[in-house]
Amino acid sequence: MRPEILNPLFAEVDTLDGVGPKLKKPLEKLRCTRVRDIAYHWPDRFVTRRPVDNLDEAGEGEQIIVALTVTEHRAGASRRAPYRILATDSAGNVLALTFFGRSSYTAKKQLPVGEKRRVAGKLERYGDMLQMVHPDHVLTMEDAALGPMREPIYPLAEGLTQPRMASLAAQALEKLPAVPEWIEPGMLAQQKWPAWADALRSVHARDDETAKDRLAYDELLANALALQLVKADNRRKRGRPLAGDGSLRDKLQLPFPLTGAQERSIREIEGGLAQDAPMLRLLQGDVGAGKTVVALHAMLVAVEAGAQAALLAPTEILARQHYETLREMARPTGVEVALLTGRDKGRARESILMGLMDGSIQIVVGTHAIFQEAVQYRDLGLVVVDEQHRFGVSQRLQMAGKGKRPPHTLSMTATPIPRTLTLANYGEMEVSRLDELPPGRQAIDTRVVGMDRLPEVVEAVGRHLASGQQAYWVCPMVRDEEGMEKAAAEQRFAALKARFDDAVVLVHGQLDPEVKDAAMARFASGAAKLLVATTVIEVGVDVPASTLIVIEQAESFGLAQLHQLRGRVGRGSEKSVCLLLRGNQLSETGQRRLALMRETQDGFRIAEEDLELRGGGELLGTRQSGDTPFRIATLDQMQRFLDPATADAKLLMDRDAGLEGERGEAARILLYLMERDMGVRTLRGG
Ligand code: ADP
Ligand code: MG
Repeated sequence: MRPEILNPLFAEVDTLDGVGPKLKKPLEKLRCTRVRDIAYHWPDRFVTRRPVDNLDEAGEGEQIIVALTVTEHRAGASRRAPYRILATDSAGNVLALTFFGRSSYTAKKQLPVGEKRRVAGKLERYGDMLQMVHPDHVLTMEDAALGPMREPIYPLAEGLTQPRMASLAAQALEKLPAVPEWIEPGMLAQQKWPAWADALRSVHARDDETAKDRLAYDELLANALALQLVKADNRRKRGRPLAGDGSLRDKLQLPFPLTGAQERSIREIEGGLAQDAPMLRLLQGDVGAGKTVVALHAMLVAVEAGAQAALLAPTEILARQHYETLREMARPTGVEVALLTGRDKGRARESILMGLMDGSIQIVVGTHAIFQEAVQYRDLGLVVVDEQHRFGVSQRLQMAGKGKRPPHTLSMTATPIPRTLTLANYGEMEVSRLDELPPGRQAIDTRVVGMDRLPEVVEAVGRHLASGQQAYWVCPMVRDEEGMEKAAAEQRFAALKARFDDAVVLVHGQLDPEVKDAAMARFASGAAKLLVATTVIEVGVDVPASTLIVIEQAESFGLAQLHQLRGRVGRGSEKSVCLLLRGNQLSETGQRRLALMRETQDGFRIAEEDLELRGGGELLGTRQSGDTPFRIATLDQMQRFLDPATADAKLLMDRDAGLEGERGEAARILLYLMERDMGVRTLRGG
């Protein structure tokens, strides 16, 4: 149960003065649904505002406060056009106060024609007009002049204003309870960190990096602790130890010897399966590293031990592919492999369900359908989850909490994740890495080509297709005005279609699933030769092997993404080419990213360097926002504090695994505050 002192913070936002149904929506957009969220929604900057007598004294882009007389209201020509209020300063300059959407209603009331008002906001130019869009403050002449010159600028959503947000923040800060300190005193002193409530008050009042670091550390510590709790709880659970005798694995007739990394991972998995406690293991390996064979070995261990194994895939296509590969490989063993997806109905489905119940089916491959309630297993010993990264930490921790005698789990991912992110995302798991590609793969010839050479690239693609081979052309996702994600791919498709006609197909996220499937099917069958796509080519889906990929505006992709995309080629023993088409204006990091792509094909190295590059200034969340489970900590803060936070969480658990001591109690409060409480529920009095 959540500690009572936190209740005021977890109350809904409408318990604050001034929040009615109207404000709830924009607040929700900012993910501020509870008082707590408002306290954690701090300004992203502060401005110093200058009072001026007239606009001649102010520069464009400057934050000012100026007295104006309202002269005219101009409604927009259409509903979407802005509402403009014209006003003049003491020198006769005209300023347009511009309002979009509903904010014009309040503006009309606050700025009647003929009245004098003091207005604060950013001075801009629109055509040859001076304008101020959504002024931050509109004051009557009787109002006290604006107090502090330094004002917070909060991230807003439509319908909210800076003063309103500041007032909500002030109210939320009033409600901060007195909490015991959960950070280790030595760390606190060394970093000169303020107490929790002081830190929150400070980040709303000034640009305080030290306070922000402390709050980020809170989040990292809570996450590490939650993962440790789940891990510890898992160790106490009794699962079913699975010891295989090798009898089935000996019968495999693989056309290749296993790589050293595969051998090592299989041994690690065997060790985990033999334990009493259910295994929680992550298998990381680049596309093409050979994870499937490792999964098969793991599943055969379970079957040798008399249990069943299930492989869970994120999509139907992937499930089908895994099924076919596994059935083929397992044929010499005589093991019964079945496929179960949401699409199976009637008799076929019934017979699979029977087989799982009586144990005659030993391995089942499928989508989440394999875990529906109607599906009962005689003795499920191992679950293999492909592309685990699609589940968030909290979802997974919740899954881990279920079941009295949970099966062992092996999660597989092809997304190269740097070590720190692995720790943050998968800290409750043991990790096996396939850091070696099977022999015989040729390096992919990766070249960076300027956009000015587009015609040559199209010709090269033409020659490639003429020789009977297929190719990919990837465009970044670009949003048009309506927020649709297709523009770039659509345009390129049209241009390439003019040249290659029916040989080209298009796949992107905004297409109907049927249209998309049909296009994919044409490409898969070889009827179409060139696939133009956004990044929707799903991770892990085996589209036909191809040896040429063109990535347009390559600089706008993250490194991990470029790496994944390039992994589409170079799967076989033939030579493959990856052309990175770059725009003409490359940022320094953009240049370095492309250079790194030319230099290496090692996903783990690319992931580490990507993190370095991004940590060096790019904002978290601009790309690959899903790759950390944090809302507060930035990449830079992660790099500085994840290790100490993890070490601290371990130390705390070693000393007080039940979180019952003084610091343990404080840590419980932290876990609830940071919503990482799934681990606490495994404890007494949790
Ligand atoms: P992943 O799932 O890790 O992307 P796969 O398991 O699909 O990779 O393997 C990619 C290809 O490499 C498959 O064709 C597979 O048969 C082959 N392969 C796997 N292990 C080896 C190996 N040790 N030697 C040669 N080829 C291998
Ligand atoms: Mg795979």
